[in-house]
Amino acid sequence: MDIKTVIFDMDGVIYRGEKAIPGAKEAVLSLEKEGAEVFFLTNNGSRTRRHFAKKLSSFGIKAPLKKVYCTSYGAAKYMSENMPDATAYVLEEDTEKEFTDAGIRCVKTEDAKAVVVGLDRNLTYAKLSIAFRALVKGAHFIATNDDPSYPVEDGFLPGAGAIVASLAYSTGKRPLIIGKPEPYMLDLIVKEHGVNKEEALMVGDQLSTDILMAKKEGMRSALVLTGVNTRQEAMRGRIRPDFVVDSIRDIPKIVRDSTRR
Ligand SMILES: [Mg+2]
Repeated sequence: MDIKTVIFDMDGVIYRGEKAIPGAKEAVLSLEKEGAEVFFLTNNGSRTRRHFAKKLSSFGIKAPLKKVYCTSYGAAKYMSENMPDATAYVLEEDTEKEFTDAGIRCVKTEDAKAVVVGLDRNLTYAKLSIAFRALVKGAHFIATNDDPSYPVEDGFLPGAGAIVASLAYSTGKRPLIIGKPEPYMLDLIVKEHGVNKEEALMVGDQLSTDILMAKKEGMRSALVLTGVNTRQEAMRGRIRPDFVVDSIRDIPKIVRDSTRR
């Protein structure tokens, strides 16, 4: 079977913090040269897709906006499809543009009809309180993602899941999760680009998100060891990727070999 599409997670695959993973640009260029269609899919919902496209471009990876997927965009799309008239309280103000672009009105009060929670580096108790009260009043609880932590240059930092959990705990409500391992973002790529999952490879650094989503959706997957999980964890655990490789550098060969079968 041929791999015609490669979907890259970003944190821990393409970069760590502000540093590119060695060989990332060359790997993407090589795949594109050989005719593979490349997408970027991050669970990070703390910025807009424009931000991520710029970040990729700073590492020499020229990705058109429509091939860059982040969960703030996904959450905005979800709202415009399912609750176009609901107002949103978006904790991370930097992402409000995704919502207004999707026709969603953003408010900063407890009367919001939906609360969108993701990684918010400017989180305050006052913001948590507005979100808490809106949820208690019955607002939809939307989480961009549920990652417990994420990799940076010198280790890890607490992820969106830590903030989501505090609201889930205090309100007793469960969020709808937009990011991996839930299928919503992948479905969006399939819908917007006509990608065939059976001809696609998911490349990620995290078993519980990237690889689990791929497995649930019948896609092949490759774990790279430049981020969250280790080879031992991939061998021991329940979630087994099809390929375990040192880094993104090894991906073009996997794709090349798949077309020779
Ligand atoms: Mg990652």
